[in-house]
Amino acid sequence: IAATIWLPRSSLAPQQEELRRLGSLVTGCLALVILGFLLLIPRQPPDNPITAIEEALKAGEFVPYYQPILDIRTGKLRGAEVLARWRKPDGSVLLPANFIPLAESTGIMRDLTRTLMRQAVKELGRMLAQRPHLRIGFNIVPQHFANEEIIDDINYIFRNSPLRLSQIVLELTERQPIESLEETQRVIAALQQMGVHIAIDDVGAGHNGLSYILKLGVDVIKIDKMFVDSLGVDGSSSAIVRTLIDLAQSLRMDIVAEGVETFEQVEQLRNLGIRAAQGHVFAPPLPGSLFLQLVEAIDPRPQAAGAAPAKELSAGSLRCSA
Ligand code: C2E
Ligand code: CA
Ligand code: CA
Repeated sequence: IAATIWLPRSSLAPQQEELRRLGSLVTGCLALVILGFLLLIPRQPPDNPITAIEEALKAGEFVPYYQPILDIRTGKLRGAEVLARWRKPDGSVLLPANFIPLAESTGIMRDLTRTLMRQAVKELGRMLAQRPHLRIGFNIVPQHFANEEIIDDINYIFRNSPLRLSQIVLELTERQPIESLEETQRVIAALQQMGVHIAIDDVGAGHNGLSYILKLGVDVIKIDKMFVDSLGVDGSSSAIVRTLIDLAQSLRMDIVAEGVETFEQVEQLRNLGIRAAQGHVFAPPLPGSLFLQLVEAIDPRPQAAGAAPAKELSAGSLRCSA
């Protein structure tokens, strides 16, 4: 905007100060108008998916869901696995397939894991402190095991939390290669010294083979859904599951079967000697509040056991959040 003002030169001197003030006023007004426009422009989600993930992380949109793990001999709750969900401001909830691979490639996976750990402590800390027999498992990318950072994270997040370090399980997937076996072994051993349990996830689905699992010295083997699905259908898969069970038993490792969808599978797994399982047959991953209600209902604290009955939990409310 240009403003031209014509004045006789003689009248300029006394007016100069006033003109200067007028100039400042116009500039100030223009700046306010521009700022107002900028604030009124609706905020568009960033086009770049990596930026979108980074912003969602800052905005606290990644939340933990908890899938119960049950003892299939006693029917008792053993704990839960934490599964990440992206809860968008519009209320939609995205599954990990939509963001974990990208988060892994950009190196923000560790921050995402820390966020989930902190939220889990906040949501479940008190409940877990009252139930030391329950464990909580976190999925950890192999790179996070490649140096002592994971040890620092566990110390920093859990040392002064209500739950015990022995209630933590770290799940290391077998789907991705482990770059430094020696360093990973060292980190695993240090975590086990602290009381943390280590599980190897997706066993049989990766390319590392059994000898690899043995070298890592883990505490728990998680059998992939792929094998659970083929039980009783595919003879070779059943044979692999049997081998894994023998191996786990001889090495005193625990086994958890994943992705169990039918009662028939529960029975087959129990007959094979497997004690723990998770899957939609019991419950999908649940938001924190629903998981806490489930725990109160099926695993009441001893002193609360005879007290008021736990709030009724409908099957529908469990199904809603897969
Ligand atoms: P996973 O660790 O093998 O987790 C089990 C997946 O199986 C979960 O999928 C779970 O929702 C699904 N599932 C459980 N029971 C059943 C069932 O009965 N039927 C079927 N069809 N599916 C079942 P989800 O939540 O989509 O997670 C997929 C994968 O994403 C996880 O596989 C894990 O590898 C990864 N992931 C999830 N959260 C995290 C995280 O916080 N960190 C890392 N690094 N990876 C994560
Ligand atoms: Ca897992
Ligand atoms: Ca798995």
